[in-house]
Amino acid sequence: MSKLAIHGGEPIREEMLSYGQQYIDNEDIQSVVETLKSSFITQGPKISEFEEEIANYVGAEYAISFSNGTAALHAACYAAGLNFGDEVITTPITFAASANCALYVGAKPVFVDIDNNTYNIDPKKVSAAVTEKTKAIIPVDFTGQPVEIEEIQEIARKKNLVVIQDAAHSLGATYRKKKIGSLADMTMFSFHPVKHITTGEGGAIVTDSKQYAEKLRLFRSHGITRTQLLNNEGPWYYEMQDLGFNYRMTDIQAALGISQLKKLNSFIDKRRSIAELYNQSFNNMNGVIIPYQAPNTGSSWHLYILRLDLKTFSVGRREIFEALRAENIGVNIHYIPVYKHPYYQRIGYKPGICPIAEQWYEEVLTLPLFPTMSEKDVQSVLEGVWKVLTYYHS
Ligand SMILES: *Cc1c(COP(=O)(O)O)cnc(C)c1O
Repeated sequence: MSKLAIHGGEPIREEMLSYGQQYIDNEDIQSVVETLKSSFITQGPKISEFEEEIANYVGAEYAISFSNGTAALHAACYAAGLNFGDEVITTPITFAASANCALYVGAKPVFVDIDNNTYNIDPKKVSAAVTEKTKAIIPVDFTGQPVEIEEIQEIARKKNLVVIQDAAHSLGATYRKKKIGSLADMTMFSFHPVKHITTGEGGAIVTDSKQYAEKLRLFRSHGITRTQLLNNEGPWYYEMQDLGFNYRMTDIQAALGISQLKKLNSFIDKRRSIAELYNQSFNNMNGVIIPYQAPNTGSSWHLYILRLDLKTFSVGRREIFEALRAENIGVNIHYIPVYKHPYYQRIGYKPGICPIAEQWYEEVLTLPLFPTMSEKDVQSVLEGVWKVLTYYHS
């Protein structure tokens, strides 16, 4: 057996392979350059073109773009009418923004434990967590595998709650053959460079509701409108009807997004085929659990997560993590349960709220996965993981 790089051996690869990365080609660059040379670099025609294409792609009536996915979530909380004292149910296994957006509007995130197989929020526990104060549910399609969204919408319908699906991981994914973005009251996508397509920074909410769409547009532009005015003092007139923000995407970003969207399906195909290669290989490995896929979901594979059966290894997850990094395999951990962060602890959340999620967090490793990984890159991940995990099995 070859010596581990962490013990001074030769690393599996010469350069660090990151866990995620964007792909920008000449067409993308051309598209951005054309917009830079045009008369609008923000609030021009590219924004509405991008929004229309996103809405068409996912099968929603409206798409409203934002400066980033977090701003989009904030706006969705506003549009849902969330306010001080309201409770919002979400998962602890997500990026902090899924819960932070509730805090932005004065509402309280309520963390509900995950399903031990899908790693998504457990719909049965969602039902049990609904109180008189609950106003919304923010489920997350963690890793790109859709949450049981129809079940969650059903709970919401019965209890009069709004569902804001955090689909930052799941652009292009399907639930019962329907595209994510066509199923929840509002659905958020992120266009951060590690996500499926990028606009640098960027995000969107898609919805079928005209009322939500109008509120979302108002919120992203200072609460200012030129239509549906309460008064009209003349052709110059506009009104600030509520306290909003400047959360707009630029036309430069939208131009990049339009060009990226053309490649989205091929990006997803590539992610799926890499995940398949990982599955085939790690299915035969002792002490690891490959990502379970629920039968009625088609993941778009934002993340590939291996779960370790730590009692079969001679060291802990940290040593395995460090040994893989030493091999230049850019493993990561997604995510630290949100309420364990110092800020959440400071505002009163105690450890132990979601025991399955906390246990799960100790056992997982995210492997590199992005569409431009070469066959050699994929091979190096397989070899690196086998090398390190086999070593620590002995
Ligand atoms: C990336 C991400 C966000 C936030 O999106 P940004 O565009 O980075 O603001 C929210 N939720 C999840 C689950 C994410 O992965």
